[in-house]
Amino acid sequence: MPVPTVRSRTELRAIVAGWKAAGETVGVVPTMGALHAGHLSLVEAATAGSDRVVVTLFVNPRQFNDAADLAAYPRTETEDAAKLAPLAVDLLYVPDGDQMYPPGFATTISVAGVSEGLCGTHRPGHFDGVATVVAKLLLQTGADRAYFGEKDWQQLQVVRRLVTDLDIPCEIVGRPTVREADGLALSSRNLRLTAAERASAPALAQALGVAARAIAGGTAPATALDAARAAILAAGFREVEYLDLRRDADLAPVETAGEPARLLVAAWLGDVRLIDNLPIPTVG
Ligand code: AMP
Repeated sequence: MPVPTVRSRTELRAIVAGWKAAGETVGVVPTMGALHAGHLSLVEAATAGSDRVVVTLFVNPRQFNDAADLAAYPRTETEDAAKLAPLAVDLLYVPDGDQMYPPGFATTISVAGVSEGLCGTHRPGHFDGVATVVAKLLLQTGADRAYFGEKDWQQLQVVRRLVTDLDIPCEIVGRPTVREADGLALSSRNLRLTAAERASAPALAQALGVAARAIAGGTAPATALDAARAAILAAGFREVEYLDLRRDADLAPVETAGEPARLLVAAWLGDVRLIDNLPIPTVG
């Protein structure tokens, strides 16, 4: 069954109001499309956890700090709808640009703290764009739960902070990163890798895994991070934008050994920027 698609918030609200009047819970999976198994794992979690599921497809111009990246971002609505058809998705919301940013739109939501550093340093304005569009999508859909991937760990923490601070009545559910068999985290940007780059790409997750185990085993973080950086560059990446060890929940620098921590990385393979993250396994 094709999934019904709406493009205006008026139609969206009317349908959701009907569900809510019937006492049904609503889950939303916000995406920028070019759906892969990572997105579909969020959809499956949503269908298991809510009576009704809305998937949103919107390539949000405000979260791109680079016009070339926005222009190159894959747009595959027909294929995306076909991938969702076998799943128990009730509605696809594909807002026209003016539904999100009509003339006169003037509000930006900026989340301090967790938005700073890591991707926040290297993609100025990115998390303002994310926070603004996510707030709008949660308010437009009126969802009870929203599903996000741990692959974008910093984004997940930004969204958690946002709903807490703005009293948005929506539970944020984080889901594990889905990976290829060789460890590469699924990403819409993987479509842009050449065959040779695709062969090098798993080195990113491998280097993180080696470093995470070394740190858990007592190696000094600086030593493990240096070795990981060298391994990523040796595999053919042209630049490691950042590679850092941070506290899990608030992304502050790790000060005390043994507190929940995570390695986060962004690196360039040719013209493609890949990100990944892994927790430091707890010993014992
Ligand atoms: P995007 O379309 O890239 O904005 O991603 C939409 C949602 O899918 C976000 O919550 C991402 O964190 C999530 N996502 C992207 N890649 C993966 C993956 N490999 N595993 C799990 N979730 C993912």
